[in-house]
Amino acid sequence: MLRGTTQILGIIGDPVTYSLSPVMHNAAFAELGVDYAYLPFRIAEVDLVQAVQGLGAIANVWGFNVTIPHKEAILPLLAKVTDIARAVGAVNTVKRCGEGWLGTNTDVAGFLAPLQSLHRDWSQTPALVLGSGGAAKAVVAGCLQLGCPMIHALGRDHKKMRRFHSQMTTQLRDFNLRVHTWQSVDNILEVVGLVVNATPLGMASQPESPLSLEQIKLLPQGAIAYDLIYTPRPTQFLQLAKQAGYEVIDGLEMLLYQGCAALEFWLEHPAPTDRMRHALIEALA
Ligand code: NAP
Repeated sequence: MLRGTTQILGIIGDPVTYSLSPVMHNAAFAELGVDYAYLPFRIAEVDLVQAVQGLGAIANVWGFNVTIPHKEAILPLLAKVTDIARAVGAVNTVKRCGEGWLGTNTDVAGFLAPLQSLHRDWSQTPALVLGSGGAAKAVVAGCLQLGCPMIHALGRDHKKMRRFHSQMTTQLRDFNLRVHTWQSVDNILEVVGLVVNATPLGMASQPESPLSLEQIKLLPQGAIAYDLIYTPRPTQFLQLAKQAGYEVIDGLEMLLYQGCAALEFWLEHPAPTDRMRHALIEALA
């Protein structure tokens, strides 16, 4: 129930219509019995500065998530940014600090959570990231945190990939990142133990897998296929990988755990993970 005392959290982006964050966070607040509510705020790119100032003027807005297209553009509007957000070059969660906003990035923690529970020796696991957009940056930062000895990233355009390499190695630190275009994918698949789809290939609007069954079968035994997409669930990529005998992780886990990390950043209280997962699964059904 909304009261005069209710603290407001939310998500800013454009579009926000299909965001599952309101369902997930409001379920968490109900479970915890706290006086918070989470709302979607549709904010066009041109209105970002005004919107962030406006939210700052509403004293009971405690924080918000940030999604496309504002994750990078919001950086200069914040009073402080955590090391991880600076390293990734993108912010997805913000809360009040003194006179301004403190921004962080919980996508990296969200990406890592299902991998960390596998207790593998990541120092022996080279990784391949398909894509070079915002999510791919969080995945590269995550693979670096895991300790993967080599990270490969794949994109469509040579120039873009070179820029991605230079951005990532500047923002993070010098590490083993190699960038390629799709023509080289078969050779790379043979040497990686983790392959992450961070492209929109596989979403309901373009449901084809980014890799064919023949390509997936090039992966060494024991490799993990991870798709950041959560609709459809499972994606064709994960169906094929499972059929070929590989371990699979779908995007719902990242969505869930980035949400848990955001909630803990705002409330400084452990997130009710099971209730949040249940709310997401129910909404997707
Ligand atoms: P983005 O910034 O738009 O980046 C998309 C990337 O995919 C770019 O590198 C783009 O390459 C590539 N791409 C797009 N269409 C392609 C195609 N037809 N063939 C090959 N490559 C293509 O998007 P994003 O924010 O990184 O999101 C990527 C995916 O991750 C989306 O499906 C999103 O839903 C998902 N995601 C999930 C979570 C989660 O919590 N589970 C969080 C964030 C994102 P170019 O640069 O060449 O265009």
